[in-house]
Amino acid sequence: MTNRRQFMKNASLLAATGVLAASSNLSAATVSANQKASKAKANAPKVNKSFGLQIYSLTVGGSTEFSSDVPNGLKRIAAMGYTTLELAGTAGVSLTEFKKYADDAGLKIVSTHLNPPYYEYTRDNLGGIKEFWKKAVAEHAAIGCKYIIQPGEPAMRSTEEVAFVGEVFNEAGKIAKAAGLTFGYHNHSGEFVWVAPRGREALPARWPWGKFPEGAKLVYDGMIEATDPSLVIFENDVYWTVMGQRDPVEYMQKYPNRIRVLHIKDVAVLGESGMMNFKKIFETAYANGIQDFFVELEENHGRPQFEGVKGCAEYLMKADFVK
Ligand code: MG
Repeated sequence: MTNRRQFMKNASLLAATGVLAASSNLSAATVSANQKASKAKANAPKVNKSFGLQIYSLTVGGSTEFSSDVPNGLKRIAAMGYTTLELAGTAGVSLTEFKKYADDAGLKIVSTHLNPPYYEYTRDNLGGIKEFWKKAVAEHAAIGCKYIIQPGEPAMRSTEEVAFVGEVFNEAGKIAKAAGLTFGYHNHSGEFVWVAPRGREALPARWPWGKFPEGAKLVYDGMIEATDPSLVIFENDVYWTVMGQRDPVEYMQKYPNRIRVLHIKDVAVLGESGMMNFKKIFETAYANGIQDFFVELEENHGRPQFEGVKGCAEYLMKADFVK
């Protein structure tokens, strides 16, 4: 016997394909009951979940839909279910204006992405890097930001360069900590390559031949080990970690106190590709006490960014493993 849930599922599938109206087995009363049930569902109180949006998702590729009306755009984001924001620029308005619009929309700015204007980290430009962070930290402390995160990878071709980047990050971490913020680093796939002592270039992500270079390290692991846990956290971009041929869950398990924020990202809209194990990712993150998750959408297969950002929120709202 078909149970009620299965019956309702079948009925809604039939309705969706227009078959229901032609079916003589289902009465008008059943159709009316279905309509009432779906209306009640639409009016149901919003499920309270906590996830944020990386704002780059709406400005990527020069999209102007957001920047043309930031106050309204932020309200649309809040209506989708997002509760927090991570900045990456402010879509053409000042930081203080953006903060006001976010407050008006009920969105909390928790984090920001910024890169110092240097690719090579040397003793000579350490002063310039520190000045950059001092200014950025002061501006973001003023709006109550919790994290200040570098998403761009500096040059790291050897274990020595990785160690020096770690020293620079510790300095940035001290500047952030003094103002009550936490400094972090966000990865792409490029950190999942090997570097050797005195190396001149990164080695393949998976070592395919011959003798493995002595003392070689994966850049990402090297960065974690070279930074002070009291000064630097890692925002793991789970999609880019997978694209680097590594498992974000294994990394969260290996470094539970270092990976403290996540970028929730897929090829395009969350869940569409089927290649990301978001259930396991969220379960591991909650077990580690991670509280801050930022959805990021770059590629959206030609669809408007707002539509994709909404699709991502719908996926997380429906997912029973997201709190
Ligand atoms: Mg990311």
